[in-house]
Amino acid sequence: MATRKRVLLVGGGFAGLSAARELSATHQYDVTLVDPKDYFCYVPAAPVNFLEGASAARSLVPFPTLPGVTFKQGLLTGITTDGTTGEATLQSGEKLAFDYALLATGSVYASGVKPLADVLVTRVQRLQQFADIGSKIEKAASVLIVGGGPVGIEVAAEILHHFPAKKVRLVCAHSTLLDRMDPQAKEYAAKWLHQNGVDVVTGKRISDWGGLTDGDPGPATLTTTTGERISADLVFKCVGVRPATALYAASLQGPGQLSGSGAVAVEPTLQVVGWRNVFAVGDCNTVKEEKTAALAGVAAKVAAQNIVLLDAGKELQRYPDSVFGGPAPMVGGFTLGPKAGVMQMGSTVQAGGAPAKFKAMFGWIFVRMVAGSRWWGWVYKQMVKQMVSGLTKDVRKSKEAAAAAQAANGAAAAPA
Ligand SMILES: Cc1cc2nc3c(=O)[nH]c(=O)nc-3n(C[C@H](O)[C@H](O)[C@H](O)COP(=O)(O)OP(=O)(O)OC[C@H]3O[C@@H](n4cnc5c(N)ncnc54)[C@H](O)[C@@H]3O)c2cc1C
Repeated sequence: MATRKRVLLVGGGFAGLSAARELSATHQYDVTLVDPKDYFCYVPAAPVNFLEGASAARSLVPFPTLPGVTFKQGLLTGITTDGTTGEATLQSGEKLAFDYALLATGSVYASGVKPLADVLVTRVQRLQQFADIGSKIEKAASVLIVGGGPVGIEVAAEILHHFPAKKVRLVCAHSTLLDRMDPQAKEYAAKWLHQNGVDVVTGKRISDWGGLTDGDPGPATLTTTTGERISADLVFKCVGVRPATALYAASLQGPGQLSGSGAVAVEPTLQVVGWRNVFAVGDCNTVKEEKTAALAGVAAKVAAQNIVLLDAGKELQRYPDSVFGGPAPMVGGFTLGPKAGVMQMGSTVQAGGAPAKFKAMFGWIFVRMVAGSRWWGWVYKQMVKQMVSGLTKDVRKSKEAAAAAQAANGAAAAPA
């Protein structure tokens, strides 16, 4: 019997698990999924988890058991390949040989939202960290959130949902909140924060963090670029999501393999630049897209299918074109406590109670799927199919509108 090819998946987040499911279903490969944690973390629930123990317990689940997939607890610190076979080194010193590898190590976010992969490796440690941050929030008389993106806004809203009288200030470097989102989303968030008593200050950039690290939130006095000092009992740094590649970045020494921000550079086929048999997806790569769990899962499916195509000597798909027929559309959203939120899917924006309910339901379904429910796995698959189909139509419409505008401009500019 021919030996099965070995596929190494590094990182058991949204991307890693999506690829694991796709490859498991082929029954063709010996897949090893490496992650330092003994649990999957449903990251979008982090702001809620700070203040709701039941949510935290629900959103940290054991990795699923999938046919042909072996889970290994470990941390990637090095990787080499000759283009056909390669070898990964774990922090423990263990070496794992592979025929194909997929880097899906995600990102790191400050303030305890998404800690470095080599800390809080047990579920118990992570639950304790959520609870500790919750009790810091409870004790703080003043809270400062730096960052006007979806994460900063969600953290502010959760704090006010639990402590409506708490003094919360949100400082953002841009002239408006949510700089990458639709104006409707910006307006809705600004109005909600104002009505709920958040002191929103835009156009202020922090130049000195007063000793605040990228670890858990804490008390600090910050200085802005104009020299203003701002203090609070508890400061959440909600800026600067970073690709989680530092631990193995020394392996990516080939020309153009690592971007300035530390992301793994990939070809449109999601192959790492210069490495035929190694792919990278999700928050850790350089693909120009809103870095979301939704898109990480979709891209990981493409990468897993490309591994199968490469193995069969066939032409590879090019992401995001093969999925959306053009550039990856905007996919984003945030909740403002349990009863309000915004969801943006391409050019469609929905604000109000429904997006908050949808996000909670999506999370509920996702963790059930990870926990092994085939039924919820099927439901999740249908939801993703619908999302991709809606976004594809949206991309097509935008391309048609752009072409029509270009034709109209051309006609107007043409000599009579
Ligand atoms: C507060 C918050 C709310 C969000 N809300 C949404 C939302 O509503 N919808 C949405 O679509 N997206 C949302 N996102 C974004 C989403 O969480 C990320 O885009 C998503 O987690 C990316 O998935 P990933 O698989 O690439 O990486 P991750 O989820 O970061 O997973 C990476 C995995 O790799 C492991 N790892 C890291 N380094 C190593 C290493 N060296 N060796 C082995 N394993 C390693 C980590 O332990 C982790 O398990 C939110 C993010 C935050 C922070």
